[in-house]
Amino acid sequence: MHTLPTSVYVHVPFCQHRCGYCDFTLIAGRDDLVPRYLAGLAKELPPSHGVILKTLFLGGGTPTHPQPAELAQLFELLRSRFAWNLTTEVTVEANPLDLNESRLEVLKNAGVNRLSLGVQAFDDQSLVILERNHAANDLAGIIHRSQGVIPNVSVDLIFGVPGQTLPQWQESLARAVEMGVTHLSTYGLTFEHGTAFWNRLSRGELSRTPEDLEREMYAFAMEWLPAQGYMQYEISSFARPGYQCQHNHVYWSGDPYLAYGPGASRYVDGRRETNIRSVLGWLDRMEQGESPVAERETLDARARGHELLYVGLRRCAGVERYDFQQRTGIALDDLVGPALAKLVQQGLLVDDGKRVSLTMEGRFLADMVASELL
Ligand code: SF4
Repeated sequence: MHTLPTSVYVHVPFCQHRCGYCDFTLIAGRDDLVPRYLAGLAKELPPSHGVILKTLFLGGGTPTHPQPAELAQLFELLRSRFAWNLTTEVTVEANPLDLNESRLEVLKNAGVNRLSLGVQAFDDQSLVILERNHAANDLAGIIHRSQGVIPNVSVDLIFGVPGQTLPQWQESLARAVEMGVTHLSTYGLTFEHGTAFWNRLSRGELSRTPEDLEREMYAFAMEWLPAQGYMQYEISSFARPGYQCQHNHVYWSGDPYLAYGPGASRYVDGRRETNIRSVLGWLDRMEQGESPVAERETLDARARGHELLYVGLRRCAGVERYDFQQRTGIALDDLVGPALAKLVQQGLLVDDGKRVSLTMEGRFLADMVASELL
């Protein structure tokens, strides 16, 4: 059955500078390409979508990097193809220093009702290592100004930054909570192959945070944030009641979604398509009138099942057997019964007969659990 997706992701691939740890699809220091990007997007977007969106998410790169007038054009373009209203969750990922009054006004007028701020840390030492362009002292003013315009502000924070101490991490969490953000995403720093951090690690210029310290940092977030009213609902996500990210729930539930822009990946009718990652390659293809799709994959029931399990287990609510079978056409136990039983026995999963979810220990070892189930 064809279901028209009601969730849309738009990738905005611009940043001032590529942070050393980042392997996202983006092009840094090429603001001159924004007009070509907008023209390319105008070609890629469907003429008219026709239904009110449930969620719209602009990610990057840094969606707030283009100039305010360009940002306004981007939203004008999106408005001409999609419909959204007050019930739609409209999220924009933002770099703190970009959020001046003009950009905030553009976002507010466009109906953006959720900001996801790339804060990463509230201590200058970590911010310098992460190569972020803001300082800890900038943050309170920016967050309060943003909340005054768009009250629903989420912040991303990174733990396991080289040299970061447990008290520094605790202080970052405390500052975010003190500022009344609605949502926190906490990520352990990873060293991705091909990044500047990877190279510096190989040359011995950076060192990984010891595993037990990293574990202590994550454990602190999982224990302390719920006590402050931020319930953990996913491996990396904590929210005050009513503020869970609806767009991410679409991914974790295996629901269909559309996606546009360089490197964007969509999932519709059991088919996954991913656009070419190179920003210049995407621009060329759009300008030549070619398809931006670089990879296509139709998932059969088993592949859909594995994928749903992989993303579904990220949620603290886990995967429900009945829902799993409805969505994939395959019973959970037929797909991975013995592996599930083994992981339950190892204390990494809990299984109440209806639903399977990660234990606290399982959340520390989520990647290992996922690989056991693949
Ligand atoms: S601002 Fe974000 S997307 Fe841009 S380079 Fe840094 S980490 Fe990557």
